[in-house]
Amino acid sequence: MKKLKVLLDEETIAKRVRELGEQITRDYADAEHLVVVPIMKGSFLFAADLIRQIDRELSVEFLGLRSYGAGTETSGVVQITYDLTQSVTHQHVLVVEDIVDTGLSMRYLLENLGTRQPRSLKLCSLLHKPARTRVKVPIDYLGFTIDDHFVVGYGLDYAEKFRNLPYIGVIEN
Ligand code: 5GP
Repeated sequence: MKKLKVLLDEETIAKRVRELGEQITRDYADAEHLVVVPIMKGSFLFAADLIRQIDRELSVEFLGLRSYGAGTETSGVVQITYDLTQSVTHQHVLVVEDIVDTGLSMRYLLENLGTRQPRSLKLCSLLHKPARTRVKVPIDYLGFTIDDHFVVGYGLDYAEKFRNLPYIGVIEN
């Protein structure tokens, strides 16, 4: 069994998610409708908590991404494994991601969604690891900036495990 060190505890995450929800609620005051796009699988818990803090009319459209790479490194080759089931043309779209690491996945996705002509397109990411940036992507709503650790929990996995942890932790070897 791997040992884990807590990086962000449950209470810290919940407080920040509330703040993000309040900010998004304010920013979309004039929007008739918002389409929230959680990126599978890592953002499913974050998105579930976040949307309950957004006091606006919204719908949820999941999108699956696979980034090829060995172990914990991405190669930058990104594939959509599950696409939206509705058109987002002329809609306000908010992508909800677990972590922006190199930025390659979000650059690919934002470019792809941009071609579908949404009315607006923004990114909300729970985590950002600036030390690993390879391409800069604008993060409109950010939960936490973290150091260069491989983190798990609160939806994030290591080999599909640890998604059920209520906190975000670092695996200690
Ligand atoms: P990027 O394309 O920005 O390098 O990588 C984005 C994806 O890599 C994230 O959506 C996530 O699935 C995965 N990833 C990057 N860093 C971590 C990490 O520290 N922990 C986990 N569990 N996944 C990560």
